[in-house]
Amino acid sequence: MRDFTHTIYKELLLELISKGYRFVTVEEYFTSNYNPDLPFVLMRHDVDRRANSSLEMAKLEHSLGVKSTYYFRTISRTFKPKIIKAIADLGHEIGYHYESLAQTNGDYEKAIDDFEKNLQRLNELYPIRSIAMHGRPTSKWDSRLLWDRYDYRKYGILSEPYFDLDFNEILYISDAGRAWGNESVNLRDKVESRFEFSFNHTEQIISNIKESNLPKKIMINIHPEHWAKSSFEWYQIWLIRRVKNSIKKVLIRGRA
Ligand SMILES: [Zn+2]
Repeated sequence: MRDFTHTIYKELLLELISKGYRFVTVEEYFTSNYNPDLPFVLMRHDVDRRANSSLEMAKLEHSLGVKSTYYFRTISRTFKPKIIKAIADLGHEIGYHYESLAQTNGDYEKAIDDFEKNLQRLNELYPIRSIAMHGRPTSKWDSRLLWDRYDYRKYGILSEPYFDLDFNEILYISDAGRAWGNESVNLRDKVESRFEFSFNHTEQIISNIKESNLPKKIMINIHPEHWAKSSFEWYQIWLIRRVKNSIKKVLIRGRA
């Protein structure tokens, strides 16, 4: 079966549901608004480019009673108030996918201004409680370093998953670069973890869930822009990804 389609995503969700996993938003997790004794999934989406594909995914999830957390960048391609509100109206959480230190080329003072300004823009649409760094591959600046000097809790933020979740306890699975766990195209979206699962296809994740091989606590990071509703869209995304991943490989080699 072709990977990164809405069809297979739906199968993944249905398998999780049938195995008793609850879908908990990141905010719910940090406000203890969930039952820790039941298996749960923190379904997280980083909205890097195409805001529209996030809305499509949000609708699909809603139709199955699934709640997720959507981290939005505030660039013009993704800061779409109507779409953000529509996703929130479906019961999902909105978070801020910040990149302030990359945006200001390492200028901390300008970066915290950039962070505050964009957080405010999002707060007008949704009360933001969680943030997650966008690892801009073309920048040498890791925006998480901003928190060496400043404190996001000051802004009512309860969590930045890279800092506040224990990935030795929660299995982290990411489709960064439109490949499961492909480190050759994955600059910063990785975590320290004792788990040693590796997947090449969503079908493998599904079969592992079916066989009860996965832990009871999971965070899945899915970039909706990688996942297609139609065949035409699938080939479009596949082509864009081939070009982008070859650029990223060169960047990673250049930095090694
Ligand atoms: Zn991102």
